[in-house]
Amino acid sequence: MRAFFSVSTILLLLVSTAAAHTVDLTSLPLADGEVSSEPRAGSVFACQTRFNPNAPGAQRSGDWLNETAGTFDLTRKPTVDGNVVHLSELDIAIAGTRRLINGNTLPDHPTGQFPVSRSDDAFYYDRNPNTIRAHAFSVSLPTNPAIAERPSCLPMGAIGIMLTGAVLFNALDARGENALAHEILDNCQGHPQRSGLYHYHGKSPCQNDPAAATEHSTLIGYALDGFAIYGYHGEGGVLLTSRDLDECHGHVGQVMLEGEMQTIYHYHATPDYPYTLSCFKGDPTSIAGLSGSARRAGPEGPRRGDRFDRPPPRRPR
Ligand SMILES: [Zn+2]
Ligand SMILES: [Zn+2]
Repeated sequence: MRAFFSVSTILLLLVSTAAAHTVDLTSLPLADGEVSSEPRAGSVFACQTRFNPNAPGAQRSGDWLNETAGTFDLTRKPTVDGNVVHLSELDIAIAGTRRLINGNTLPDHPTGQFPVSRSDDAFYYDRNPNTIRAHAFSVSLPTNPAIAERPSCLPMGAIGIMLTGAVLFNALDARGENALAHEILDNCQGHPQRSGLYHYHGKSPCQNDPAAATEHSTLIGYALDGFAIYGYHGEGGVLLTSRDLDECHGHVGQVMLEGEMQTIYHYHATPDYPYTLSCFKGDPTSIAGLSGSARRAGPEGPRRGDRFDRPPPRRPR
């Protein structure tokens, strides 16, 4: 099936940005190579500093990519078909100054059929051979996180837990390129990696965030440093892009959290790269089996990264 967004959604996105930025989903920045070894707005501050350009990923590119112009057309990208229902578990409770999250990483929305079926048009581009599997986890995050002295890099693997129950990865695929531009995802913009962990690389369109917003977006998840993640819209419903946000893809502002208006630091998802966090503003934790560990920006040398995304290559025939 083609297209995550209907034409009317695109028009609404254009209209809603009249006062701010225009985001054209047919011509999004490809941003390959926007990976940095220090915090920088619009770039992923990645813990992994060396990527293998031949690492597993999509087998082919398609006409949605315009390498010459450095753009891609999200509306023309094929999606993995299917309507597979999962038994999602997500429990969020507050105990003192901690937010305790227990879950199984399965989303509360249907997913595409993985492994990708031969009869799916997506198979031609990306033969994701993985099966979606539950991963029971438990994590404790601060309810009122502090901004760290220096931001930390983003590991591969989970960097946040979304309210759908599924996890959020950073914007990169195993080759260090823009995962949303290259990897073929399902209609909720998710897919499983080699251990069957279903994840997104940006905000899922299956999480509600009305395009014709007049207010700040609602909460969509929590980053592993405890800071909350909101949808595409800032105060007054203004559509945000990377240019409106800081080096970690967040800002300080008024948001509704735990039923109260609070002025706090929070991250935003944006329709443009790097889509969600570009570094951790607070002190991150990691979840064994789901995420690699992060470290502060500083003089430490390169570290071998955790290869969380995608299985070993299968030679396309
Ligand atoms: Zn905001
Ligand atoms: Zn991925």
